[in-house]
Amino acid sequence: MTEIGSKPDFMSMTPEELSDFTASLGEKPYRAAQLFSWMAKGAELEEMTNLPRAFRQKLAEEGDYRLPRIERKLVSAVDGTVKYLYAMKDGECVESVFMRYEHGTSLCVSSEAGCAMGCRFCASTLRGKARNLTASEILGQAAKAARDTGERVDGIVLMGIGEPLDNYDNVVRFLRLVSDPRGMGIGLRHISLSTCGLVPGILKLADEGLPVTLSVSLHAPDDETRSALMPVNRRYNVASLLEACRIYFEKTGRRVSFEYTLISGKNDGKKEADALAAVLKKGMRASCHVNLILLNAVAETGLSAPDRRRAEEFRRQLETNGVNATIRRRLGSDIDASCGQLRLSKLEQEEEEIRRAQSAPLS
Ligand code: SAH
Repeated sequence: MTEIGSKPDFMSMTPEELSDFTASLGEKPYRAAQLFSWMAKGAELEEMTNLPRAFRQKLAEEGDYRLPRIERKLVSAVDGTVKYLYAMKDGECVESVFMRYEHGTSLCVSSEAGCAMGCRFCASTLRGKARNLTASEILGQAAKAARDTGERVDGIVLMGIGEPLDNYDNVVRFLRLVSDPRGMGIGLRHISLSTCGLVPGILKLADEGLPVTLSVSLHAPDDETRSALMPVNRRYNVASLLEACRIYFEKTGRRVSFEYTLISGKNDGKKEADALAAVLKKGMRASCHVNLILLNAVAETGLSAPDRRRAEEFRRQLETNGVNATIRRRLGSDIDASCGQLRLSKLEQEEEEIRRAQSAPLS
């Protein structure tokens, strides 16, 4: 558990740890269960009215309640997708996106404030990484979204800002907390963890006994193209990544899915479709699925998406080669629902304010 403040971050605690903590504050064990259930609902301390006032006061004074605050909220007029900009206690901001599908609702959460991975097409990494999020700060995004929408969060995707496997301990702790039936109770089988390909993290996750779906951001079938788009490929190349995915599948029995963002002129040709099918068949042997994503253009990157027809051709070429693929439907197109852009515009605003303050004459 990351200790940001010096006081215990009690929303990151399991019910058992919370029991010890409340005992240390002189409270009975059942108070811990009540508190755990309140936190899973995204409640503020003052709303926890079945807890003694004195206990809530002690929690406020001796603990650190890291429930995020909704800083901004955008609702799509097209499909009702909701995008949240959350502020953490220290002012760091991250995003979540709440989506409704026919089979249920899904929330995309962030795992870090910023990202250190440097993928060329991604808005989240443009200012680097500020810090890891605590388990409570990841859990809080889900608890607050369920509370604000008044709907149950059926599934979670760790596809927001940050690289989940670069914040391994907090993310695994979050997975255990969010799936705990005494709390939000979201089934691990309804949770996907997306990674840019940190091989040691994938191998470690395979041994946690957590049946989450592993989603791997591949984006290119060969090392040259992938390294140009994703610096992480210089550390863990395509072959070592696919080997880790195969081990993950063998150990967990969970089919791995691959993300492939189509970028015009970089990775969207027939050559790449054929090469992608070939490496997946060779590397994975077992079945896997490819999610094709049309690049969401980020002004700073100078990259653009191919048109829909070219994306469809790419998909068909994969299927011709025996690899299942779907083109991901874009939700919330009118609110820029991809993650990283709200945080980036807020950081740019703050930088502009600092520049202005520095150039203002002293009075
Ligand atoms: N760090 C993790 C999870 C966050 S990103 C990862 O890399 O998987 C979630 C997905 O969105 C990844 O597949 C990522 O590569 C992709 N992505 C990032 N920026 C994008 C953009 N501008 N357009 C389309 N997809 C993007």
